Amino acid sequence: MAELFYDADADLSIIQGRKVAVIGYGSQGHAHALSLRDSGVDVRVGLHEGSKSKAKAEEQGLRVVTPAEAAAEADVIMILVPDPIQAQVYEESIAPNLKDGDALFFGHGFNIRFGFIKPPAGVDVAMVAPKGPGHLVRRQYEEGRGVPCIAAVEQDASGNAFALALSYAKGIGGTRAGVIKTTFTEETETDLFGEQAVLCGGTAALVKAGFETLTEAGYQPEIAYFECLHELKLIVDLMYEGGLEKMRWSVSETAEWGDYVTGPRIITDATKAEMKKVLAEIQDGTFAKNWMDEYHGGLKKYNEYKQQDSEHLLETTGKELRKLMSWVNEEA
Ligand code: NDP
Ligand code: MG
Ligand code: MG
Repeated sequence: MAELFYDADADLSIIQGRKVAVIGYGSQGHAHALSLRDSGVDVRVGLHEGSKSKAKAEEQGLRVVTPAEAAAEADVIMILVPDPIQAQVYEESIAPNLKDGDALFFGHGFNIRFGFIKPPAGVDVAMVAPKGPGHLVRRQYEEGRGVPCIAAVEQDASGNAFALALSYAKGIGGTRAGVIKTTFTEETETDLFGEQAVLCGGTAALVKAGFETLTEAGYQPEIAYFECLHELKLIVDLMYEGGLEKMRWSVSETAEWGDYVTGPRIITDATKAEMKKVLAEIQDGTFAKNWMDEYHGGLKKYNEYKQQDSEHLLETTGKELRKLMSWVNEEA
């Protein structure tokens, strides 16, 4: 069973006794910086020249300096810029300002796990990753609650890196909900696998294939959209609240029977064998290398895929249909 840590297991005074730099002020960055500040922690935000988020951070009462200045001032440096540019920000602004005894923190293990960032031996390397988007992390904190986090230590130079990570997690409300101990390897590999095989890749491909099957058989795209995409939310909400069991309790017996007999014909042994290959390519670094090559090579294929899918009948149909549904907020 997973090891769980709560408020009583974490000492907030540890992080209150440090100087924290939050590099980046996006989804996670704003939530961490504001909640740490409200927890009585000395925080500065590090942002690049011309950053779009700088004005917002200052408006919200935070002191914004360059990433290099933030790293030089602080002794706990949390890197919350997009994963593909972290190595560059680290080399240019953080590495030259790291001292023995500092701690380098992450919200995702990608750059450490695959060796794009190699911190010196004298610094602690830890992760505090909320299991939710930044706006939820911040809102829960303000409401006196928290989003569960996972925490890990990759390098324990001080001998106290995990206590520091728990203290940081307490500062953003994580220990109110519960913090699960993991490793950089487990977090990174399961995160990439989940988003590729199930959450984003698997689900998008399933929805598209179902939609195409119906429209190619002559059914109206609007009807196919409702059946294959729109209703997915209702089903996923039920799973989220009470697992597969609650979903099956709520749908009709006919739908439940179809689930049992047809599901395994769609996600077959061949699909699972392919999932294992996907996982192996994540574990051996192939995926990370290919993605970084694609990113730094100008995102050519990425933009092609994006363009192709935006022109798909599923998407053009959905765009029109969602206008009929006043409660569907496209921003949400
Ligand atoms: P965002 O894309 O939301 O935010 C990026 C921030 O970094 C922006 O403030 C951006 O500024 C700033 N930035 C961009 N370039 C630089 C630079 N060179 N120097 C300093 N700041 C820069 O990132 P996320 O919050 O989504 O992700 C941050 C980390 O958190 C990642 O490791 C991610 O994997 C992890 N994570 C994210 C979750 C999420 O819910 N999004 C959940 C859990 C973990 P500007 O406004 O100018 O663009
Ligand atoms: Mg991810
Ligand atoms: Mg139906």
